[in-house]
Amino acid sequence: MKITVLAGGIGAARFLHGLANVVEPSSITAVCNVSDDLTWHGLHVSPDLDTLMYTLAGLEGEFGWGVRGDTQTTLERLRELGGDEWFSIGDRDLATHLYRTGRLRAGSTLTEVTAALVTAHGVRVTCLPVTDEPHPTIVRTGEGDLQFQDYFVRLRGEVPVTGFDFPGRDARPAPGVLRAIAEADLAVIAPSNPFVSITPMLVVQGVRETLSRAPGKRVAISPIIAGSAVKGPAAAMLESLGYEVSATSVARLYQGLVDLFVVDTADEALLPEIRALGMDAVATDTMMTGEEGRARVARNVLAAAGFAESVA
Ligand code: GDP
Repeated sequence: MKITVLAGGIGAARFLHGLANVVEPSSITAVCNVSDDLTWHGLHVSPDLDTLMYTLAGLEGEFGWGVRGDTQTTLERLRELGGDEWFSIGDRDLATHLYRTGRLRAGSTLTEVTAALVTAHGVRVTCLPVTDEPHPTIVRTGEGDLQFQDYFVRLRGEVPVTGFDFPGRDARPAPGVLRAIAEADLAVIAPSNPFVSITPMLVVQGVRETLSRAPGKRVAISPIIAGSAVKGPAAAMLESLGYEVSATSVARLYQGLVDLFVVDTADEALLPEIRALGMDAVATDTMMTGEEGRARVARNVLAAAGFAESVA
């Protein structure tokens, strides 16, 4: 069986880690958001791809990003030199960005470099950037248009958002992306931020259309539980954009793209209104606390999607 997961950062990485522990990892393809990518001192940083890679390798930092136990010698030295270092990069993590940037400058594509990095980390899940082309998310706020990391890290996601722009929306999908979605027995929209992780992938040429016609089972997992985001700005974005902060609002954004919407047990009461949107809906435990929690949620989602027999 082939599983393809549309993935943002931490929520997606935890789900994929759980999934890779309950099915054969080589049967999984993660199609990953690159619209959070940034240039840091001239280096190409891909936060979501790196979060997936480090998490799948069991190396992720305490808060879900970076490398666990990493040192910050370079960052501290940059600060001593007078740099305004609001984006934190550890020393081991830095090697990833140096390697990626060197290979990109020498002519490799992001897909090729990602495959090499993932293999070097012993990860057997296929990780594909959704596109090899520049495709940034611009966050519209009362303080003007901001690059995503400027909004998310420098301003800690605290300014109200009025909208988004994707100037690279005509980006072409990276090799293998559309096929991975079209040929999946199960296509999953991970519990990721719908506005800044999933939508930027859906606007890449052909991705939305391919998912909307994919013959496999299509499932989304709500990142909103009981009216709050587990972490990050998804709830604040729903609110400032005028949506009700609920799993139902996320389900509405995915209308026509999924057959089944999975909410947490805490949101069981929302099932009738989600079903009224024209998709099936189930409630199960989706809280990925600890490694065991990740595997449990993966098992719950596979069972809800009718693939219980695929679980090892
Ligand atoms: P980011 O790019 O690192 O912010 O990562 P994502 O877009 O993948 O994930 C952020 C979303 O994942 C947030 O909206 C969280 O609410 C959601 N999330 C994180 N952990 C969990 C969890 O354990 N369960 C569920 N259902 N959602 C989660």
